[in-house]
Amino acid sequence: GRRWVLKNHFDGVPKKEDFEIVSEELGDLEDGDIITETEFISVDPYQRPYSRTLTPPTTMMGSQVAKVIESKDPNFPVGSRVVSHTGWVERAKINPSKLAGARGLSGLTKAPEIGSLSPSLLLGACGMPGNTAYFGFLEICEPKKGENVFINGAAGAVGSLVGQIAKIKGCKVVGSAGTDEKVKWLTEECGFDYAFNYKKVSITEGLEKGFPSPAGIDCFFENVGGPDSSVVLSRMNTRGRVSVCGSISTYNDQEVTMAPSVQGSLVTKELKMEGFLVPRWKSRWNEGIIQMAQWIKEGQIKPKETILNGFEKTPEAFIGLFTGDNMGKMVVQVGKQ
Ligand code: NDP
Repeated sequence: GRRWVLKNHFDGVPKKEDFEIVSEELGDLEDGDIITETEFISVDPYQRPYSRTLTPPTTMMGSQVAKVIESKDPNFPVGSRVVSHTGWVERAKINPSKLAGARGLSGLTKAPEIGSLSPSLLLGACGMPGNTAYFGFLEICEPKKGENVFINGAAGAVGSLVGQIAKIKGCKVVGSAGTDEKVKWLTEECGFDYAFNYKKVSITEGLEKGFPSPAGIDCFFENVGGPDSSVVLSRMNTRGRVSVCGSISTYNDQEVTMAPSVQGSLVTKELKMEGFLVPRWKSRWNEGIIQMAQWIKEGQIKPKETILNGFEKTPEAFIGLFTGDNMGKMVVQVGKQ
């Protein structure tokens, strides 16, 4: 099987040259081992900061949906489908009881039952990003009917789901994203009340159009970070809630600083701002997935994916997250050209 090796730590924006593809034999199975064949690989923004925990050269980290093709573990029979964290590999020899997970999630789980939905969704709306939206928004923002919600990175895997969940909960939803096509998709298909292209419209202007003064924002789902976030906080209502999910605009920076104006708004508006890592809801994982799958089957949530075909495309897919190449969840379909 082939695997993608991270040759060195990233310096600024990840480049194709940071990766190298290698082939190797997996060898014989010992008791308790299984061999999985990857169907879909997930590329996620967290891999940029978290790859610092790796010691290159080593297999690039990541999760996938895979089929068991050989097994000496009766819990994972041949033909069963799993969600695993074996990095960017075509095939993996794993001892499920020994595999460590990414970011506190289990290293290998049987794929949750999602019926006729595409298994790729196990990496998106019915997987980690889906639960990030579900728990990270509902538990931290505690949205109420009629409240105003703002989401940046709104056309991505997590953001697009947060917006659709907020609509289910009866909120007014405004989002920002990096292309006109994304903005159109958010308003025409995802039910956003308003969206704007942050590359063309300033945050001040976009928020004023979305929530004309004196209206303010009750819930802010933060995916992006950087200077614009201070402006969002300054437009919040008293006792608003901020769910700090990520700060993708800073992931390629060497130094991260928090604008002083953030603190000002927090105090004067008595905001509640809370960061989270989604494994916090590990014990409720299936609850989120079942609910997301249900909403999808009912047509209340429309999951979108940007699928690149071919294992060779994995670095390109990952790098594309930082240039905004994806609408919805970015995944790689292995074994397809
Ligand atoms: P996305 O699908 O949103 O992909 C990344 C998107 O971010 C791109 O499509 C791009 O869209 C946007 N982007 C990239 N660079 C910038 C920039 N400099 N400024 C503004 N936008 C940018 O990824 P996910 O949905 O998987 O992740 C979204 C966020 O959630 C990330 O911050 C991630 O780290 C975080 N996260 C946190 C988790 C947790 O447990 N706390 C779990 C999962 C995700 P555009 O065209 O709009 O610029």
